[in-house]
Amino acid sequence: MTIAVRTLDDGAWISVNDSREVGVSDVWTLARGPFCGCEPAAVLLEGFTDVGVDGTSIVAGTVGQCLECGQRSTIDRLAVGRVVDGAFEPYGAAGVQSTLEPSSP
Ligand SMILES: [Zn+2]
Repeated sequence: MTIAVRTLDDGAWISVNDSREVGVSDVWTLARGPFCGCEPAAVLLEGFTDVGVDGTSIVAGTVGQCLECGQRSTIDRLAVGRVVDGAFEPYGAAGVQSTLEPSSP
């Protein structure tokens, strides 16, 4: 089973299996990570720089700005959703996200 992911429209969308699933301009609540000093941080996403599949997770590189302190930064690995039985399930911007996936050795 192959999951095809890519960015569309200069990084405005993440496409999963040729369906636009995750868009920018949402405010994501980030629980931890090196984005800025706010905890949690309310980050307005400005664009996706890349996207990939890590196991069952869809992880994206993205650029955003914290609405609290104004810090503008990048997130290397934002988990935007997962694949269950071949179908994409978005995590959604409302939930608290951790920006760093546990890295496997
Ligand atoms: Zn902040």
